[in-house]
Amino acid sequence: MTDRRLFMQDGLVALVSATGIAGGSAAAPAGQAAPRWGMVIDLNRCTGCQACVVACKTQNRSAPDRFNTRILAIEDVGRRGSRVTFTPIQCNHCEDPPCVKACSANATFKLPNGIVVTDWDRCVPLGSCVTACPYEARYLDPRHGHKVDKCDFCADRLAKGLLPACVEACDAKARVFGDFDAPQGELADYLKRMDLVHRRAELGLKSRVLYVPHRKHSTGGVA
Ligand code: SF4
Ligand code: SF4
Repeated sequence: MTDRRLFMQDGLVALVSATGIAGGSAAAPAGQAAPRWGMVIDLNRCTGCQACVVACKTQNRSAPDRFNTRILAIEDVGRRGSRVTFTPIQCNHCEDPPCVKACSANATFKLPNGIVVTDWDRCVPLGSCVTACPYEARYLDPRHGHKVDKCDFCADRLAKGLLPACVEACDAKARVFGDFDAPQGELADYLKRMDLVHRRAELGLKSRVLYVPHRKHSTGGVA
């Protein structure tokens, strides 16, 4: 489980996990650019099974009724009847995050690799970042002194070379994670597609979580 304390060292931000120091989450080896972590969620593959939600809860041990990722179930009514579609949601790791601007304690910020994190040592849980997030991705967690929590792409797992728990748990391969700058691979193939969309694109926050929209969805977008 992640203990979200962070520290500065040699100009780089590293993450301290419960099992030790996991500097690789943020710091690229000398001379190498940091990866640009991000995720594509293919809504046509998501079955709504909730395995990712369970894996995330197990990984992060958030309090009851607090979730770093959730699945929206939407009834889509068309001419031939209705069907239910599923949309996984979480922190989008916005390029220009309103939550960061709202945090007067500088406890939440963006790492060089694009992950938006919260330093629990600095967090004075007033909740201004919670209300600033238009995606309702943040919450005060009573299990952790009411400090603010949300998805951090499992930064401590990334430091160990592991995928985020939700990605690993998804048998349908609906969640594809990696470095947005990688020239090839499944994520690169997705990023070359023209049909990827941001959730609530009208906000202009340019998230690092992109979606393949539902085929034949009546709204043609992301819930
Ligand atoms: Fe959808 Fe995969 Fe999560 Fe199941 S595990 S709800 S298929 S994203
Ligand atoms: Fe911050 Fe919300 Fe954007 Fe995540 S989705 S970076 S919590 S504003």
